[in-house]
Amino acid sequence: MKPYSHARWHLYREEVIKLDGACCVRCRRGRADGAVLQVHHKAYVSGRLPWEYPYGDCETLCKGCHAAEHGIAMPKTGWSLFGVDDLGSLCGSCELCGTEIRYIYAVGHPSWGAMGVGTDCCDALTATTDAGEHHANLIKEREKKRRFVDSPKWKVTVAGDMAMIRDRILVQISPYEGHYRLKIGNVQGVMKYPTVLDAKIRAFEFIESGDAAKFIAERRSLIRIVQ
Ligand SMILES: [Zn+2]
Ligand SMILES: [Zn+2]
Ligand SMILES: [Zn+2]
Repeated sequence: MKPYSHARWHLYREEVIKLDGACCVRCRRGRADGAVLQVHHKAYVSGRLPWEYPYGDCETLCKGCHAAEHGIAMPKTGWSLFGVDDLGSLCGSCELCGTEIRYIYAVGHPSWGAMGVGTDCCDALTATTDAGEHHANLIKEREKKRRFVDSPKWKVTVAGDMAMIRDRILVQISPYEGHYRLKIGNVQGVMKYPTVLDAKIRAFEFIESGDAAKFIAERRSLIRIVQ
């Protein structure tokens, strides 16, 4: 686990902005006026994470007022990426260009502080392709998940279950008390899923993460011991 938590910064930042009335405390412009809002730390305490400050030590500034506050233009290089967070929808905004974003990359600079930005701004600031590659992998994973869910390999068994074999692991989904249950490698799970789709998504994640294979191998060795 990394010492930095991206989600914490995103939450903290939005809280400061909310407390300041969702606008820049100098010029009073908000996102609706086209202002890009950033959170400025009035003072730094070394070793403290950007969100470990009392709200009073921070203030909401628009990009322009923020640059004026520091007396310098925002540094264009020397930033490092410390985490990425999936907001689940396009509900975030890049602190550099204002674009609506779903994946928020938290970057930091020793003379400026922390910022949450989009993929392109992140790569420009860090002079790497880390965010772009991370994003490309997310999209690849998402497409793989869709192919799994839609796969023609899903068959309906005589018992009325949906079944398919993925990575040599048998996946079965059966209706149960108005919900659905998953059976992986012939082991019945206890979780109930509201829809077949939810069960398929769980199965995909369980197998893709390698946890399903691990689980089955552990079970097999357990059975050998018992026998
Ligand atoms: Zn301002
Ligand atoms: Zn600042
Ligand atoms: Zn941006």
